[in-house]
Amino acid sequence: MLQQDDILADLHTHTLYSMHAFSTLYENMQCARAAGIHYLAVTDHYYGTGDRLAIKNENTRLKQVQRELARYDTVPRIIGGAEFNLGQVPVRPSILEKLVWRPIGLHSFFMSYSSVTAEGLYGMFRDAADQGYNAFAHIERKLHVIEDGRLGTSLGMRSQDLLRRIVRLAAERHIFLEVNEASLSRNEPGARERMTFWLREAKRCGCRLSLGTDAHYCEAVGRFPNAVALLDQIDYPKSLILNCDRDLLEAMANGERI
Ligand SMILES: [Zn+2]
Ligand SMILES: [Zn+2]
Repeated sequence: MLQQDDILADLHTHTLYSMHAFSTLYENMQCARAAGIHYLAVTDHYYGTGDRLAIKNENTRLKQVQRELARYDTVPRIIGGAEFNLGQVPVRPSILEKLVWRPIGLHSFFMSYSSVTAEGLYGMFRDAADQGYNAFAHIERKLHVIEDGRLGTSLGMRSQDLLRRIVRLAAERHIFLEVNEASLSRNEPGARERMTFWLREAKRCGCRLSLGTDAHYCEAVGRFPNAVALLDQIDYPKSLILNCDRDLLEAMANGERI
């Protein structure tokens, strides 16, 4: 039985650096510690505007979260990361070669949902698999945009087909699939149904999972009531959950790319 205590890491969190999140790294760390979390991935949004200040800020952030903080004996330990955007090629792809944790997901600030098709979305995931990202974030979100009528909230045939293909791609390319606590707690229409669907497919394919709260405020860090309950219900093997793998998390906190 999977329990909150088995979850050693939160692999998707935001700080003030993301600009629409509302806590400092210090506050996130305190809340993570209170939630019994040993490893905290800092996955602020990558915006990649490419101007000189942005590049300076990205370099400094990378240095802080992957090298400077490792010098202190912090609890939790910090894992360097960033959250990237499907449909956007980073201005400097070299950032991907340096970052330990590289999730990528759909974000409205980089695309127009009204113009996407299932095929277009799949192409973005396929490109991302070639470009060195190692996790697909919140794949269940927003898929109503590819269904007929677009207002439908349930799990349509196009979403099922697309999710099946994404899961297969992740299995073949050894990419983690993210179980996003915010997808379950925010009550986006259909998100729970879609996540339950893809998790069953992922279990069949032996996909490895990562769990993230996607916290934009510190009180949400490290707490996974919905994700844990759903994974327990599906009886997902603990051995396939990165957040339960102390050795791999320790390696990541030591700056090893996985
Ligand atoms: Zn955000
Ligand atoms: Zn996020």
